[in-house]
Amino acid sequence: MHYRSTRTDTPVSLAEALSRGLAPDGGLYVPAVFPSLDVGAFAGCEGVAAVAEVLLAPFFAGDRLEPHLSAICREALDLPVPVRPLDADTWSMELFHGPSAAFKDFGARFLASCLSRLQANEDRPLTILVATSGDTGGAVAAAFHGKPGVEVVILYPKGRVSERQAHQLTCWGGNIRTLAIEGDFDACQALVKQAFVDDECRRLRRLSSANSINIGRLLPQMAYHAHTALQVPGATFIVPTGNLGNAVAAVWARRVGLPIGDILLATNANDTLPRFEATGVLDPHPTQSTLANAMDVSVPSNLERLTWSGEDVWVGLSAVSSSDAILRSEVAAAPERYGVVVCPHTAAGLHARAQVEGPAVIAATAHPSKFDTIVEPLVGREVPVPPALAALLQRPTSETVLPAELDALRDVLADRR
Ligand SMILES: *Cc1c(COP(=O)(O)O)cnc(C)c1O
Repeated sequence: MHYRSTRTDTPVSLAEALSRGLAPDGGLYVPAVFPSLDVGAFAGCEGVAAVAEVLLAPFFAGDRLEPHLSAICREALDLPVPVRPLDADTWSMELFHGPSAAFKDFGARFLASCLSRLQANEDRPLTILVATSGDTGGAVAAAFHGKPGVEVVILYPKGRVSERQAHQLTCWGGNIRTLAIEGDFDACQALVKQAFVDDECRRLRRLSSANSINIGRLLPQMAYHAHTALQVPGATFIVPTGNLGNAVAAVWARRVGLPIGDILLATNANDTLPRFEATGVLDPHPTQSTLANAMDVSVPSNLERLTWSGEDVWVGLSAVSSSDAILRSEVAAAPERYGVVVCPHTAAGLHARAQVEGPAVIAATAHPSKFDTIVEPLVGREVPVPPALAALLQRPTSETVLPAELDALRDVLADRR
């Protein structure tokens, strides 16, 4: 199996696509061809890791990592994904039982397992540089902590993430360095981009990224969609959407032959996708801050993966947006209506559910306790923290503050501060 960029069709190996993240032409890596799988191939598979091993075998075929696929799946994807009935024909696919209590654990852990194995043949350590507005950094830190040969440097906007998110970013030590940047998320992202093209930074470190455009985060996400589709064949999949990573994984799982019906993208008030569907014109507005902050995106970074094939993107796909007022009322109504407490992102999925008929699966993307300050007042009670997250919140933290300047980041990469 080879991969190619969405912009030029030079073939690259999986190992190369994973190590590079973004293609040199600025495009995103996609499989050069999609394999076709028979549902019967999954007979006897129990759990997401077992499904992933079968599903991803053709995607790893012929690569340096192929002999490691089984171990990578067992190490990274052995997390429970309960499919909880909400009513007679609605299910919640719970993706929040990993260490950071959000679905990003699947992609981050899989990428960490792949990169640390590729790293075994290198003499220079690898430095993963990530800017985060909250959730990604926590999942990446948890996934890479203790992995040999890899160091992670995380930049987040000081004072602009929730208290629990900040704790999840700053409680690691060891091979994880977390920097509280004096600026907003855009300043963090700009610094990371500057470092990638800065000669001194590149001389100091072998740099790589772990953001959601890396295909190593997308491939494993196909596995939980597949695992659930095998239990509820033919259902509409409703995916709370920001950068479209989770949704593209669902589209790809359907494309290789899994029994997924329509796919419905649930956005917050950042409604570029529903407007694109209605008008055919991509017309992003400035990004708004919403209660579902992990979806505060106006130009989804994975959109290019949906549009590159040139086929009509919207066949079997549609998009629905939810205002903050809608998210609040869905969070408040869920315990009575469905017997569950949901996070604000999952609430966008509940709202979208009302727009479609027939069986539907809603991706529950984060545990509600991560967003306690929003959810608890709306449901009128305390939301218990799951054990893995509780253990993290017990760890001591230490914050390193850094001005939003390239010189300061160079000093960190040179171990001068
Ligand atoms: C990242 C995230 C999303 C959005 O996922 P994309 O893959 O960026 O579309 C939704 N919900 C939660 C809780 C997230 O952390």
